[in-house]
Amino acid sequence: MSRRDFEELVKDLSKQIRDFVKLIFNEASKRLSNGESLNKVVEETLKEFDFENKIKSIYKTAIPQVAESLGATFKNQSLVGSYFERSWLDDKLNLTDRISNATKETKVAIKKVIRDGVKKRKSTRTLTNELLDIVEKKDNIRINKKLSEISKLTRDDKNTQRKIKAFRREISKFGEKGDLTTSRTKRAYERVLKAVESGNQERIATAIDNAYNTKLKYRAEMIVRTEMNHAYTQMFNEKQLRDDDVVGYKWNTTSNHHVDQCDFFEFQNVGLGSGIYKKGQAPNGGPPVHPNCMCYLTPVYVGEVSDKALKKDYDIESGEKWLKRQSKEDQEAMMGVGNRERWRKGQLDFKEAIKDYSEPGNIKKIGSETKKKIIFK
Ligand SMILES: [Zn+2]
Repeated sequence: MSRRDFEELVKDLSKQIRDFVKLIFNEASKRLSNGESLNKVVEETLKEFDFENKIKSIYKTAIPQVAESLGATFKNQSLVGSYFERSWLDDKLNLTDRISNATKETKVAIKKVIRDGVKKRKSTRTLTNELLDIVEKKDNIRINKKLSEISKLTRDDKNTQRKIKAFRREISKFGEKGDLTTSRTKRAYERVLKAVESGNQERIATAIDNAYNTKLKYRAEMIVRTEMNHAYTQMFNEKQLRDDDVVGYKWNTTSNHHVDQCDFFEFQNVGLGSGIYKKGQAPNGGPPVHPNCMCYLTPVYVGEVSDKALKKDYDIESGEKWLKRQSKEDQEAMMGVGNRERWRKGQLDFKEAIKDYSEPGNIKKIGSETKKKIIFK
């Protein structure tokens, strides 16, 4: 059992959730064709499929498997519930809250997708405005405004091509940081643009369907990844704390990872070597650092770092030396463009500039009662 098994588990969970959402979607569409009202059909179908509880039970089954991927087993299922009550992101939501938010979003999205399926013959403008409703407004206000302008254009307008070209240039910069949300949203925008250009109603409808699906899929995957990775780090820590041969943890990003703030945690050297922290400790209390973070820790053994180095305090300021050696693009990926500029001008300390920065600190331990319920081999 290994980290790889864990990643397979996460993939499998995402698929289970996606398939379940699709099942509900198909059932609701079928009933709608019998002439029942949209609201009633969606509400009833979600209730009938026991949506929220089913999603919860998918997670509950997964938590013991996370332990297993680390070579641990649960004595009984009662520990599993405690994972649902923990919050770890700044929004202070726990897994239960997140699942109920996802349920609400799913309801809205299912209704919208069906509605679009029913009314295929809509004007470009209406369809594009509907797309605006699903993208994350707070992230994309500027882009949304532009898209709204584009939606007012008609194919016959001689300025249309020029304006679409300008907009396309703008969105090509969008999602460059490799952020999953923005690059997926970008693809959805591109599909709508193509549709506007061709004036093909069928294609617009399909483009909008895709946009909804992208969002649904993205949400489900994001919750699975981050919440499961959180459980993984805690159980990893629990296991290593019992092993006297382990003296530290190494921070790792995944192989398909694009540069972000986690690279800083992986490469800064606070005195023990690149990305190495004392046992039981890591920046941000360990991964995940941000939604979709799939970073993970691995053990560092006796002899791999000197006892002398382990006794010293962390050399926090040395992180800046590494940071200064990185390319402009990578610095921007770790800090954001504005923060990087302010850091360069000396207006911001590097610790304030890096997104989600935190000094190495103790990883939150599993409660003593629940701890007794896991057997670490
Ligand atoms: Zn990460």
